[in-house]
Amino acid sequence: MSISQPHLGDECLLAEARAAAANAHSPYSGWRVGAAAVFTETAAAIFRGANVENSSYGLTICAERSAICAAVVAGGRRLVRIAITCRDPNGQLITKIAPCGACLQVIAEFGTADTAIVIDGRGSFRLADFLPRPFEADTLKTHDDVPSTVTALHRGN
Ligand SMILES: [Zn+2]
Repeated sequence: MSISQPHLGDECLLAEARAAAANAHSPYSGWRVGAAAVFTETAAAIFRGANVENSSYGLTICAERSAICAAVVAGGRRLVRIAITCRDPNGQLITKIAPCGACLQVIAEFGTADTAIVIDGRGSFRLADFLPRPFEADTLKTHDDVPSTVTALHRGN
């Protein structure tokens, strides 16, 4: 896993993530996670997200995905950078965090291998550091080398 030199905007982005974490809805875990995302199409804006927990735990959405959804609604499609911060129920900064698998897949949907993932207190990484071979849109295309029985199953035959 590579850690790049701090980007000039990393601290600004982390400040936005920290502000977002203050609004986390985390009555069950007590963990406050914040995210801040920058997209190419909306580069003047920083989109905040926070974890939004639910009493039906499986419905909880992570800070990363809530920030990305906010950006997409505003027209963002190409994710450039996302910063993440996390504090435990005692307010202690947790640096050993990483986006979960679901968030990495959503980051891959809008990012590239080089999309920066900035983790508060840990450093700046590339998406490829965490998810080197994401499931991508190309994966859904029909390929000539796929056996006909597999193709038929996907068509519902
Ligand atoms: Zn997640």
